[in-house]
Formats: sequence, structure tokens, C-alpha cells
Amino acid sequence: MNTIVVTCNNCGTKNRIPADKQHLGPKCGSCKTSINMGQAAVPVELNDSTFTPFIKQAAKPVMVDFFSPTCGPCRMMSPAIDNLARRYVGRVIIAKLDTSSNGGIPAQFQIRGVPTLIFFRNGQKVDQITGALEEEALARKLNQFA
Ligand SMILES: [Zn+2]
Repeated sequence: MNTIVVTCNNCGTKNRIPADKQHLGPKCGSCKTSINMGQAAVPVELNDSTFTPFIKQAAKPVMVDFFSPTCGPCRMMSPAIDNLARRYVGRVIIAKLDTSSNGGIPAQFQIRGVPTLIFFRNGQKVDQITGALEEEALARKLNQFA
């Protein structure tokens, strides 16, 4: 699981926050002040072994970007995915899974092309989009979903 380093606004302590905990109102390890994730939020990087437990335990709706680093449209959409992770932190969990290094979960969801976005609520798949979308189109989708 990827980790984010966030400096506490109150005491200046650098906190290491696992990406899967950034939605849970993290507090500073030193002064216990709530940490404002804001611009520090990033997509949660999932793989074949972390995917299922993460989706099952997610406290918020999750959008997973199934991508491949060699796919042009995926690379084009990647900055939008990063922005949405910041815009929707605390509302929707933005996650991604690299299909070039993970085969099991993409096979389970019958992913035939990338990018594919799958939306989960309460551990259940509720929607799926194949093909790249612009950030605002994705934001409209997330607004319906959040
Ligand atoms: Zn602090």
C-alpha cells in the first residue's frame, strides 16, 4: 500500500499516512490534531492481493481505475485521476490497479480494455465505464455516486 507524507499544520510533524487510511480522518501522531489531507491526497494503489479486502472494508464508495502504464489514453487520464483523489478525499475513495502487473482481479471483473473504471458501493460493483473520460465528466459521475 502506498504511503503519503503529510506535514501537520499545527505542530509541523511529518506524518506517514497509508493511502487506504487517508479517508478516515487521520490525526497527527504527535499533537493529535486532525490532518487536512487536501492537496496531499493520492489514489490508493491496489494489487491482486490487497484489492478484495480493501473493497470489502471501504468506508466510502470506491472508484477503481484499471490502467496499464503503456496505454496512451490511461496516461492521458492519469492527471485527472490524481486531481479527483484530492477533490473527493473523504467522499469517494479513488483507487487504481495496474493491469500490466496484476492479472487476477482484472480477469475476475472481465476487464477487456483499459482504462476501465469500476464503481463500488458497500463492497458491490454498481457501475463500470470503459474508455477515458475527461476530469469534469468523471466528476459528474462521482457526484451522482458520492
Ligand atoms: Zn501535529
